[in-house]
Amino acid sequence: MAVKKGDTVLVIAGKDRGKRGTVERVEQTKRGLGVVVPGLNMAKRHMRSRTRTQQAGILDLPVPIHVSNVQLVCPRCDKPTRTGVQMLENGRRVRVCKNCGEQIEGAS
Ligand SMILES: [Zn+2]
Repeated sequence: MAVKKGDTVLVIAGKDRGKRGTVERVEQTKRGLGVVVPGLNMAKRHMRSRTRTQQAGILDLPVPIHVSNVQLVCPRCDKPTRTGVQMLENGRRVRVCKNCGEQIEGAS
C-alpha cells in the first residue's frame, strides 16, 4: 500500500536525503506517484507579474518527490519501515509496521 496524506516520510534519495516531513498530498506525476512534502524538495519558481496587483518575485514551491525516494516512518517506533497489510475482522485493511507490528493509521 502506498504512502498516504498525513504520513511522516524520510527522504532516502536526492538533495534532501535524510530529512523528514509530513505528506501534504499524493500526486500522479509523469514519472509515477509522487508525494508533496512542505519544506522538502523545494524549487524556486520565478513569477512574472501578469497584472499590476500581482507581485513579481521568486516563489518557493514543494515539488513532488517520487515515492521510491521516500520511506514511511512508523509513528509508533519512529523508524523508517516497510509496511505490510493486515485484514481486520470488519474487513478493513490496515497498514502495519514490519518493524514493531503496530498498525499505521492512514488519513483516508
Ligand atoms: Zn513501528
